[in-house]
Amino acid sequence: MESKPAMTKLDLRPGKQRSRIEIGAALLGRTGEFIREILVGPHCAIISDSNVAPLFGDHVKQRLTSSGFQPVLVTIPPGETSKTLEQVGAICDQMIGAGLDRQSFVIGLGGGMVGDISGFVAAIYERGIPHVQIPTTLLGMVDSSIGGKTGVNTRDGKNLIGAVHHPSLVIDDVDLLKTLPRRQFNQGFAEIIKHAIIADAEMFTALRHVDPSNLAPLIRRNIEIKSRIVAKDELDQTGERALLNFGHTVGHAIERAADYREFLHGEAVSLGIVAACAISTKKAGLPKEQRDAIADLLNAFALPTRLPANFPRAKIFDALPFDKKFERGKVRFVVTPAIGSARLSSDVTMEDIREAIDQL
Ligand code: NAD
Repeated sequence: MESKPAMTKLDLRPGKQRSRIEIGAALLGRTGEFIREILVGPHCAIISDSNVAPLFGDHVKQRLTSSGFQPVLVTIPPGETSKTLEQVGAICDQMIGAGLDRQSFVIGLGGGMVGDISGFVAAIYERGIPHVQIPTTLLGMVDSSIGGKTGVNTRDGKNLIGAVHHPSLVIDDVDLLKTLPRRQFNQGFAEIIKHAIIADAEMFTALRHVDPSNLAPLIRRNIEIKSRIVAKDELDQTGERALLNFGHTVGHAIERAADYREFLHGEAVSLGIVAACAISTKKAGLPKEQRDAIADLLNAFALPTRLPANFPRAKIFDALPFDKKFERGKVRFVVTPAIGSARLSSDVTMEDIREAIDQL
């Protein structure tokens, strides 16, 4: 009998739903088999972008067909500009045309962009049908495919329209990362380092010796960290889930200030982590050596820790999600008192944030 490559399975219960996660190598060929165990069909839509579809689209389609499903491949242009309501409408029209009904399901085959829009389509099509994610970026595997946040952007900002809709199944096939450009691969480590800082000091140390040919255990550990936090606060109500925003307050503001062009999401988060660490040293007692170790680790994955000298820092400050009228008041900000832990602080002022941005 043909031997199957090593793989690992996780059964998560975020909220009321169940999510099964398959992690390993050479899993794409087993897509139909995995789905057959939990979903009915026969109709399904594979949503992908025009970079990813030519790489893996036909293979997935063929595996589904041989398992008795009737897939339609819907391809959208790559990049954040595709994450819109107009694109959602166009995808739904194609799904209606292909005969998808309440028993059907949606597969997102791509990075976080495809995961977010396909998940949102699944959340609203026929008032909600199952979603399967096949992430093709490291960021997708360790972060965006977990937690159920789906949605699209509007002209006023990112992810302003969305729904919480957990995937029924996530297939993390590490072989798909082989075609990912190096910069895209590295940006996934910003979220991995964030997870280590907020929840796992041991992983932080282990990250110095990552084996790129054996990423499955690292992906699994990150999924466990994120899903544990999400399970405590699925709907972002108690402040627990907000811990995942460590580095993101300033990171998102940097992305906005750069018009989403100069930095990838993970690169902006890397800079946001550096700012959050400076604030943590000042306000939460993060030892300076730990702050420096975090910057060193970000650098080790070629992630930025300083802004270009001529970057308009005032624009970052203007893009912060806080009301500047309360400039002298205090805001809720995620800090780390020591690597492996995080908490919400109400002791951080706008002045602290401005200082940290100026130092970047
Ligand atoms: P992405 O999906 O835009 O992918 C990055 C680029 O890599 C794209 O050009 C894509 O076509 C290409 N690509 C993807 N996989 C490839 C592969 N295997 N080989 C070659 N090229 C490949 O970006 P991303 O960084 O994966 O995700 C960013 C998105 O994720 C943003 O929209 C962000 O808002 C969202 N996000 C969502 C959550 C969540 O919880 N839902 C969390 C974090 C980020």
